[in-house]
Amino acid sequence: MTLAEVLIERSANALNRPFTYLYPSKDKLNTGVRVVVSFANRDVVGYVVNVKEDERTKEEYEKDSGFVLNEIKSVLDKSPILNDEMLNLAKEVSDYYLSPLISVLQTMLPPSLKPRFSTLKAPKVHYEKYLAIVDESEKDLTPKQVELLRLIYKNGKVKKRDLKSPSVIKKLIELNRIREIDIEVPRLKIPEFEKEEKKTLTPAQKNALTTILNSKNKISLIEGVTGSGKTEVYLALSEEVIKKGRNVLMLVPEISLTSVMVRYYIRRFKGKVAILHSELTPAEKYDEYRRIARGEANIVVGARSAIFAPPKNIGLIILDGEHVESYKQDNVPTYHAREIAFMRAKTNNSMVVLGSATPLLETRIRAMKGIYNHVVLPERINKQPLPKTTIVDMLKGYNLCRDSHMFSKILYDKIKDRLEKKEQIILLINRRGFSTSVVCRECGQSIKCPTCGISLTYHRDDNMLKCHHCGHVMQYPKTCPNCDSKYLSRTGFGTERIEEEIIKLFPKARVLRLDSDVGRVRNNISRVIEKFRNQEADILIGTQMIAKGHDFPNVTLVGVVLADIGLSLPSFRNTEKAFTLITQAIGRSGRDKKAGEAIIQTYMPEHYAIQLASRQDYNAFFNTEMKIRKASQYPPYTYLISLTIKAKKEDLAQDIAYQIASDLTNKNYQDVKILGPSTPYIPYENEWHVREILIKYKKEDEIRKYIEKLRITLQNKPSVSIIVNVDPFDF
Ligand code: ADP
Ligand code: ZN
Ligand code: ZN
Repeated sequence: MTLAEVLIERSANALNRPFTYLYPSKDKLNTGVRVVVSFANRDVVGYVVNVKEDERTKEEYEKDSGFVLNEIKSVLDKSPILNDEMLNLAKEVSDYYLSPLISVLQTMLPPSLKPRFSTLKAPKVHYEKYLAIVDESEKDLTPKQVELLRLIYKNGKVKKRDLKSPSVIKKLIELNRIREIDIEVPRLKIPEFEKEEKKTLTPAQKNALTTILNSKNKISLIEGVTGSGKTEVYLALSEEVIKKGRNVLMLVPEISLTSVMVRYYIRRFKGKVAILHSELTPAEKYDEYRRIARGEANIVVGARSAIFAPPKNIGLIILDGEHVESYKQDNVPTYHAREIAFMRAKTNNSMVVLGSATPLLETRIRAMKGIYNHVVLPERINKQPLPKTTIVDMLKGYNLCRDSHMFSKILYDKIKDRLEKKEQIILLINRRGFSTSVVCRECGQSIKCPTCGISLTYHRDDNMLKCHHCGHVMQYPKTCPNCDSKYLSRTGFGTERIEEEIIKLFPKARVLRLDSDVGRVRNNISRVIEKFRNQEADILIGTQMIAKGHDFPNVTLVGVVLADIGLSLPSFRNTEKAFTLITQAIGRSGRDKKAGEAIIQTYMPEHYAIQLASRQDYNAFFNTEMKIRKASQYPPYTYLISLTIKAKKEDLAQDIAYQIASDLTNKNYQDVKILGPSTPYIPYENEWHVREILIKYKKEDEIRKYIEKLRITLQNKPSVSIIVNVDPFDF
């Protein structure tokens, strides 16, 4: 009999172990296809990892193994859904991130191909019926039939829907003069743009290009100040790679930047661009994925998940804005696109280019040590100076605007000035919603999320209270849920509130807002960006979404409404994140002919992240922050793995976390330090109690083996779950 080893879809906790099923058919079964099998009396989709023959009968096998041997119910794919490179990559990712292989496969593949039950309903190939000639002979045909035959003959083939004479068509098909054919139509319409001549590279750009192309070292960091023309270098590199018949993966850190990057590429390399990111519909993703796999695109532009795009013979992988957190996936497998890029580059022998004005400290130190090429673009194009920046202390009453405590006099005046000059303004407030908490003035309690225990944010757009951690939503109450008092007050402000305030202060200004609430409607993000780019609005208000990478030539003023947000959160990465965000935001100002300016409002005007960001001094920040990381032993001075332990009962979460931590400590591994267990800032998740352990290490082998074992042990306890995060971005 034929047996198949099948990995099956299960929770994030899934084991890496395949289950054995009987394959009842005589047809050949390939590894790498998806099948439907029964598991715990439920139909689930599995992925075949191995097929083998067994001499025994079913009964003998069951007697030997002690298990009932179930049959494979159906086979979903004719041929394997992953090529060898991708399958090996999946294994490597699974090993490195200590994540089950099945979870990696589900992350890698588009919805229609995922080994998951929902794929059974997912979109399949979309065909359009065409008519084509079988026999062009006109013998015995009526004039109407001849007319149609000639029309089809002349056009080669014609879309059936475009013809109006169904009876004539039917007759011609019966007479075997024409036939219907199915032609696949891609559902994603790739936009068209006028072809653009390439720009003459500046000496600095040219130097970057030749250094990267000529170096033996395949990995490069382009560290270029905001507006230094990094994109032009990406395009020039891509051209060289494509000339050699190889393919390019171009990753951007934010979905809204894909359309911008796609435009750049289409204008240079007509028609060969494919797009992959999470805002596409499942149908569009499926089509693009298959188009890439067939080799019909030589450039793939997309966000994080595009790192798993299937082109063969990749010659270049670019990560623009390499410092951005969104390159790291939060859930299992907790991969970082940069690591995947390195893995794929090794197999494909391709180049990797990381680009940023504010590289992650880890990346920068590797470049300084020569592990990566270090290419620097120190000046803006046109030699435009970096924006002139003013820090405003918002604790000083005399700095405040008379009509609003959210704006300083100086920011108010500058906005007014830019509106008069018809120049554009960006206002950054890195918090969405209207007010950050709702507090009862009677009993003093704030309204909290029932599952996480953190303050709920008031959203005026839909008059709801929302948890920004777990997504819990509730109606805005008329009275305090605690004491029934009517006196609720709202404190703290977010994007919605700033929008309202700006409209009040500048009623004539055309205002756009961009945050993830706006982004919930598909394509809204790109729409807002396009509108602002086309100067259909004067002011763009938004969260970090607007700080990344965008090039709006008419923006001459950036206001950071509150620079302190995030600085007091407990994470080793916070200062770096704040510095980067402010630097990038300021960098949106004055990128073309007109000089730019920026205003930073803060309650901590002396903070080094704010001071150095206002001077756009990455080097000084790097040096200061590295000392702090060294003293506190955080990356890049050590590696991290975090363990999140969750249990329905708090005691259990606490006990298991303690056991693991003390067990790990007792092992006395060399150069390993265990921190915790600690109770995180948000201690519950959907009624599960959460504890965290942080492992700091220099060498990984023993720790990895330990965690593998741990996962298998905990597997059998349904009341506990563990999430392993290798290289957590924050902690
Ligand atoms: P960065 O990504 O480094 O912030 P961009 O690549 O967006 O910068 O470039 C900034 C601006 O300079 C863009 O408007 C771009 O079109 C323009 N630019 C880049 N390189 C050149 C060049 N060699 N000649 C003229 N303009 C250029
Ligand atoms: Zn109350
Ligand atoms: Zn919550």
